[in-house]
Amino acid sequence: MRIGIDLGGTKIEGIAIDDQGGERLRRRIAAPRGDYANTLTAVCGLVRDIEQTTGATGTVGVGIPGTISPATGFIKNSNSTWLNGRPLAEDLSRRLDRPVRFANDANCFALSEATDGAAAGADVVFGVIVGTGTGGGVVIHRRVLVGANAIGGEWGHNPLPAARGGESPGPPCYCGRSGCIETFLSGPALARDYVQSGGTSLTAQQISERAAAGDALADATLARYEERMARALASVIHLLDPDVVVLGGGLSNIERLYERVPKLWGPHIFSDHVATRLVRAMHGDSSGVRGAAWLWEPHDDQRRNRGTRGA
Ligand SMILES: [Zn+2]
Repeated sequence: MRIGIDLGGTKIEGIAIDDQGGERLRRRIAAPRGDYANTLTAVCGLVRDIEQTTGATGTVGVGIPGTISPATGFIKNSNSTWLNGRPLAEDLSRRLDRPVRFANDANCFALSEATDGAAAGADVVFGVIVGTGTGGGVVIHRRVLVGANAIGGEWGHNPLPAARGGESPGPPCYCGRSGCIETFLSGPALARDYVQSGGTSLTAQQISERAAAGDALADATLARYEERMARALASVIHLLDPDVVVLGGGLSNIERLYERVPKLWGPHIFSDHVATRLVRAMHGDSSGVRGAAWLWEPHDDQRRNRGTRGA
């Protein structure tokens, strides 16, 4: 049995899946916001609850906001700021008395979709979460690409490629720079662009609905969004040449992206033909917790005693 934990800012979700990905159990609890000690207690309690209810023990993988610094072993880059600088990996492994694997939540999303989701069977997968932010994760042959700094896939903080006119220097980003891809492709960024072009304050979903109903302003805003996404993904295709790009998060529900963005990325890509597919996530909001569970694979059993972590 594999246990996956999705450690979110407002909720902690746990799941148990079997070798085929079948769901045995799912639990969701409120996250102890701002409280590291109680976060540890809550995660351990969730694992024990799952094991007692199923009567089985499992491997444990945890999806976290941010990542574990290879330099220090502590959490960094988390918007759940009470986790930053904390030895979460060491503390949880000790309390649960087993090696525990961790991955950034966008990496878990990509792993879930690459394992048994919309990109199942693909060798190279780039997963993107477009919602309140813009996260990314790379999975190659069903393995998360972590990287030397544990920021593999953090594409949202690259500058928007080929920025033009009002796109440069671009809006300020919470990371300290300006004009990051995230400041153009997140849900708040789409809403801001609609307001700046003369619209009212609407959510990304509402803008999408208005565009579908024939609102020219909403349509033009979405068209700009699609062209920016095409430019941003073209740079990923040049570097990784993925078989599949999977979109998750709230904006992945905008149906027209899947038809229009691949038509727009061609001129930016140095290839006579682009075979990369752009698809919508299959597991939706469950991909984070499922990907955490998939951090352990059957052939990992021999490795378990070596205490591999930080996958
Ligand atoms: Zn940024």
